[in-house]
Amino acid sequence: MLGDHGALPADRALHSPPPKTGLSCKTVLQAVGRVLRKSKAKPNGKKPAPEEKKVYLEPEYTRSRITDFEFKELVALPREIDLNEWLASNTTTFFHHINLQYSTISEFCTGETCQTMAACNIQYYWYDERGKKLKCTAPQYVDFVMSSVQKLVTDEDVFPTKYGREFPPSFEALVRKICRYLFHVLAHIYSSHFKETLALQLHAHLNTLYAHFILFVREFNLVDSKETAVMDDLTGVLCGGASGAGSNGAGGAQNHVKER
Ligand SMILES: [Zn+2]
Repeated sequence: MLGDHGALPADRALHSPPPKTGLSCKTVLQAVGRVLRKSKAKPNGKKPAPEEKKVYLEPEYTRSRITDFEFKELVALPREIDLNEWLASNTTTFFHHINLQYSTISEFCTGETCQTMAACNIQYYWYDERGKKLKCTAPQYVDFVMSSVQKLVTDEDVFPTKYGREFPPSFEALVRKICRYLFHVLAHIYSSHFKETLALQLHAHLNTLYAHFILFVREFNLVDSKETAVMDDLTGVLCGGASGAGSNGAGGAQNHVKER
């Protein structure tokens, strides 16, 4: 569907008539060059706008959800359910949903369009198993995230599913790590691929997924508020600003998992 649009500029270029004005291509280029030099020579004294307009904050889009369900009730730990079991099943589900949401725009997230893994003005770096910082493009970063999370959630020693098996002592720390990475992916989709998400009519899904995810990590204090601060404006709109968005959500009375 979207691929068709890509063919338009090439078509136009093929069918555009040759210039009839007698101006040679060189003359046109020289004229363009003069205009460019002129505009460079006359700076207006102001720096260019640091950020593009955040389309995802426009009310007509933030209103879009696939359900009006009260997620605060949905994320709370049900009675008689083990906390780790609850964290495990929700984290696994969010991983699958966020992976799916990213896959809808992945053809637009390439090494050329997204040379770094960024969300608004924040840049993320991947650290390998030895803690070495790696320079990578956004699709490479997302690939690292998805493959490492896939490995963890399918590891019986980390996410046990069989009766009688215990969660490891590092379980909570690993869940926090997974949620942090998944947040980066969501933030990247909003900041770099919201227009494509809109074109695919999937923004209501994205908003619903984001609100559910943020309320879940807030409930169990799984992602540092400094980490989520980059999307506080959106979080305030989608999850209710008055009740304390990502910036101060860490002190919530219902947090079951303590900061370390
Ligand atoms: Zn991208």
